[in-house]
Amino acid sequence: MTDKNSLTANWNYPTAIRVGPGRIAELGAICKASGISRPLFVTDAGLAKMPIVADALGHLAKAGLGTQVFSSIKPNPVAANVEDGVTVYRKGGHDGVVAFGGGSALDAGKAIAFLSGQTRPIWDFEDVGDNWTRADPNGIAPTIAVPTTAGTGSEVGRVSVITDEDTHTKRLIFHPRIMPMAVIADPALTVGVPPALTAATGMDALAHCLEAYCAPGFHPMADGIAVEGMRLVRQWLPVAYRDGTDIEARTRMLVAATMGAVAFQKGLGAIHSLSHPIGAVYGTHHGLLNAVLMPYVLAFNRPALTQKMDLLSQALGLPALGFDGIARWIDELCHELAIPKTLAELGVEEGKADLIARAAVVDPTASTNPVPLEEAAVRALFIQAVQGTAILNRGGKTRTSVTRS
Ligand code: NAD
Repeated sequence: MTDKNSLTANWNYPTAIRVGPGRIAELGAICKASGISRPLFVTDAGLAKMPIVADALGHLAKAGLGTQVFSSIKPNPVAANVEDGVTVYRKGGHDGVVAFGGGSALDAGKAIAFLSGQTRPIWDFEDVGDNWTRADPNGIAPTIAVPTTAGTGSEVGRVSVITDEDTHTKRLIFHPRIMPMAVIADPALTVGVPPALTAATGMDALAHCLEAYCAPGFHPMADGIAVEGMRLVRQWLPVAYRDGTDIEARTRMLVAATMGAVAFQKGLGAIHSLSHPIGAVYGTHHGLLNAVLMPYVLAFNRPALTQKMDLLSQALGLPALGFDGIARWIDELCHELAIPKTLAELGVEEGKADLIARAAVVDPTASTNPVPLEEAAVRALFIQAVQGTAILNRGGKTRTSVTRS
């Protein structure tokens, strides 16, 4: 058993991160050090009723910081949530945001802080071309991020993922200064995450690391971080799933989640190109969609991944090497975590294939999938994931239709 003190540290990469159990007690001091005296506390409605929120608010009060809670955040937050939050922020005379929660609350909180001093509407800052330069940097309020799930890594990211209800798409709002000024990664806050959500969020962290590693492009730093993130997930996600009170497993998974988000600066791929529109249409949990899609997308990308999977299987110390070793590990992990085998089990319908495929190929993550994404192929991939069949291209020789067991 690792000594708890050795799980505590201060890091400044890619932003200031205070890791360790109990570090939520430093929230007031961090706000003050960041020049925040009246934070807007952004969380979601479910979390707002939990003791971990009362405890965090207590730490702010103890530091003499006035605050107000804004919790009208949907899972997969929508633009109206952000706009409502900006109104509350301005009316309340706030000077910063504490974003507290899973990716939904973190993304909403970051977007509220970003928009608090802008005059343009939210979609003007979608991550397209140099739209981000439209923002007035002086109008971006500081954010302190406190993740309560270990998956999205939004706490160390420069985007907010916000759903556009009109177009049923998830849009990325990007600015370098959306990145929170400081992060408290306190594993004790994630102890109450139920096993199914632990599994789904942990698989999100894995999806980020895996897709970043598989993305083409020259970025050895991201590759290295992604590989270590996957090693952490392999070792610790099953432990956190089985015993949510295991602080070491919770710590390692929080770190794996931040690593995934650092790594995906290199790019993501078809897991996300598909999960974004499916999530926007159905409101399904992002990490769960990524987990279900992962084996199908991996099989789809196989022709481009031989060498990378050889190296990865060795780095992870898998019993079977190469692509098949990685595919087997992911199948076994999904089985162990009781991840559903098909999108149909999540209520996703084959009839949406045209809509989803059209949106997937123009998703910002599509361009870094290792195999170019064409609409017809993505449509077929989506149907495979709905029905539970995957076409494995075995070295280009035989093509076998399989159902995952
Ligand atoms: P979430 O934030 O939607 O939370 C899911 C549920 O878990 C909610 O009901 C919430 O109340 C509950 N919850 C959160 N913390 C808890 C805790 N400690 N104990 C008990 N329950 C808890 O889920 P998520 O997976 O963390 O985030 C998903 C969102 O993040 C999606 O909107 C997705 O698009 C976004 N995302 C953003 C990025 C990014 O880089 N910004 C990356 C990936 C995903």
